[in-house]
Amino acid sequence: MRVTWTAGGRDDEGAPGAGKGDHVWRLTFMLDPEDATTGTCTDGQRLELRTNSCQVRLPPAASSQSCARPSAQPYVHPDLLAVAAWTVVAPWTGRRVTFDRPISPALAEAVHDGWGVEAGPVGAEPRSGTRLAISYSGGADSVAVAAILPDAPLVHFKRISHPRVPNRWTHYRSDVLARLAGQTGRELSIVTSDLEFLLSYPRPGYPEHHAVAAGALLLADELDLGGLAMGYELGSRWLGGDRYVHRYTPDNPMWAPHGRWGRVFAAAGLPVVLPVGGISEAMTMRVALESELRDQVRWCLRGSGDGPCGTCGKCLYKELIQAAVERRPLATSLTASSAVARKWQEPPPYGGQEMIEYGCARVPGIEDTPFARAAEHLRATEESTRWLDHCYPPAIEEIPEPWRKQVATYMEGIGLMTPDEIARVENWGVS
Ligand SMILES: [Zn+2]
Repeated sequence: MRVTWTAGGRDDEGAPGAGKGDHVWRLTFMLDPEDATTGTCTDGQRLELRTNSCQVRLPPAASSQSCARPSAQPYVHPDLLAVAAWTVVAPWTGRRVTFDRPISPALAEAVHDGWGVEAGPVGAEPRSGTRLAISYSGGADSVAVAAILPDAPLVHFKRISHPRVPNRWTHYRSDVLARLAGQTGRELSIVTSDLEFLLSYPRPGYPEHHAVAAGALLLADELDLGGLAMGYELGSRWLGGDRYVHRYTPDNPMWAPHGRWGRVFAAAGLPVVLPVGGISEAMTMRVALESELRDQVRWCLRGSGDGPCGTCGKCLYKELIQAAVERRPLATSLTASSAVARKWQEPPPYGGQEMIEYGCARVPGIEDTPFARAAEHLRATEESTRWLDHCYPPAIEEIPEPWRKQVATYMEGIGLMTPDEIARVENWGVS
């Protein structure tokens, strides 16, 4: 795999959906004979590659916006460029990745240890920074992170169309999510990119989950970033959430600090920080809805400016959690025969099962909802799901030292798990 970044200078034309005056970075990659156009995401999802170039567009720095002369393209350390590229090319790479500028020995070692891939050339000094930024999507989990870290700047990834790939996903409202991020009143950088259109299968999306951080990586020197906080919660970090199902995952390759991705980001001086890694989606929902950012919370990718669509699978799942947190009946027009509710008619295990248990135990009248069958199978009670109201302490120990105390203080306010509750986490998926 050969990777080339081209600094496109300052683009005063803009692109559809992108900002005027952006600094543009263009990524092109060429496959070696041992590489492939099919691959596997670290979470196990099979992927197919559509094309070999994309762009990442960085907003002009706040200080340069009022300046009459266009500012020069800010410096970006080669390790940051390399890691941003690696989030895009890792699934297709066989034995070797050659970057267009030398990387640090530590980064090359992390790529080799994690993937068995030779990375080079080697020859850069390691980089570092001091501030913690938040990779902010606007969903409940990242809003919770923003509430816990009220002074941290936000970096929001906004999808734009690819010049050579037809966009058949026009219902994906990245414009709405970016506007909501702008209404937070927080220090905010909106990065735009078409990198999701590199995938032809299963759909446009991140080749690796970490590609959402491409913009934060390229801004890290300019913003003096020494860490990147992400909204992955207890289920994603420790319970094998998302496409992993029902398994305790202390060595999670995506989100453990000692996992392959954790090591790569740390080597570039931008360790991934999971401030809500110890609490469930019910708790992040509660924190987000009780925060001053409540009106900006939006987990649905389809809704208009007026609100979430209310009919997608994500809306149904999050409505179960919100109804449980608010102790009220489910508010949905979806039924057990709705296509998005089909999986809840099957027996477990389910992705995000701990939250299905939590919701089924707490939502009044669950037997009249699309979750009735799941509730019968799971037989969860408030008592059996109370551990999901508290924080798993090892998640705090994973927070890098500069930010650990702030997160620990917040989590002590939520309440730490008892030894019995900790055992519930660590025996998850063991029947
Ligand atoms: Zn929706």
